[in-house]
Amino acid sequence: MIDEERLGQRFEAFARIDSESGSEALIARVLEKELTDLGAIVVFDDAGAKVNGDCGNLLAAFQGNTEVDPVMLSGHMDTVVPGKGVNVMFEDGVFRSDGTTILGSDDKSALAIILEVMQVVKENNLPCPPVEVVMTVGEEQGLLGAKHLDCTLLKSKFGYILDAVDTQGIVNRAPAANKISAKIYGRAAHAGSSPENGISAIYAASCAIAKLELGRIDGETTCNLGLISGGAATNIVPEYVEIHGEARSHDPGKLDKVTHTIVSTFKNTMAELQADGDALPRVEMIVENDFPHTNIPEDHVMIKLAQKAAENLGRNLACKTSGGAADANVFFGKGIAAGVIGTGMTDVHTLKESIALKDMVSCAELVLEILQIHATGKAAK
Ligand SMILES: [Zn+2]
Repeated sequence: MIDEERLGQRFEAFARIDSESGSEALIARVLEKELTDLGAIVVFDDAGAKVNGDCGNLLAAFQGNTEVDPVMLSGHMDTVVPGKGVNVMFEDGVFRSDGTTILGSDDKSALAIILEVMQVVKENNLPCPPVEVVMTVGEEQGLLGAKHLDCTLLKSKFGYILDAVDTQGIVNRAPAANKISAKIYGRAAHAGSSPENGISAIYAASCAIAKLELGRIDGETTCNLGLISGGAATNIVPEYVEIHGEARSHDPGKLDKVTHTIVSTFKNTMAELQADGDALPRVEMIVENDFPHTNIPEDHVMIKLAQKAAENLGRNLACKTSGGAADANVFFGKGIAAGVIGTGMTDVHTLKESIALKDMVSCAELVLEILQIHATGKAAK
């Protein structure tokens, strides 16, 4: 039932519309029109203003024709850079850019697939649950749209986010993360004439970092210090350095622990380095929860529906654990269990990005089958 040619055309049209993060208004208007034509009530929330973008998250509600729980379908409207003026090439069933930009299949494949599915439902008058389509902004900037999404506008308790590579998998576990920053203050002095008057912030930072365990802490926990900057010149004892890092874990308790270790190591090290009566070197630690974890049990109705749908199509759909974050993490934190399914996008965030039309068709078939099973109540048994 999925119209391969129409899906490809729609994808290509979307890929040609510039929508780097913060500039989603253009594509949002196109989506608004198409979704409205398909019978949805479309609203935008006020996330755009909150994240300095030109557009909020798009929420489209399809009433459906069966009295079952609503289901959310989601993708993000923004792309990474360079994503302007994408020249879409189609050869041997595969879409690519001309090599000077990304393609934007991350995540325009999702937008095209969701519209194709809803169009197929409409033109064939198929059974359909209430569907809430959520197309977010600023995903690539740190899930900004999802973080500012007004979830009171949504009724769905579960759903599917189309924003992964593997069409044979559904991501139901992903780590939580904290952003961790250390601002270290020392004392400037001329490095040649009076170094003893100075306190090197870089030296102090190094002492702390050397004590830390970084990288993979255990099977479900990682941490990384990824940015460091400070100092003014080679002849000045550096009075300031700042370090930015992150910690991730699938286990919130372990995340707390590794975060606490980093914070206390910096603080204790500064205290050890301070001479009697001197308040320097000193550190200011900033910890910010970046995103919550996702941990959806394998017997959740959302997973069962998807796996039953895959089975009906003669496929396998395996539960997967991701090391990265998606809007799904934020939704999970807001009480919506969203599995992340693949659209076939490959080499995302690079100029080599590509997507095979047959993979998009396969994802669309899966989503359509999920809606059918859910609407007719034949799943999750
Ligand atoms: Zn994405």
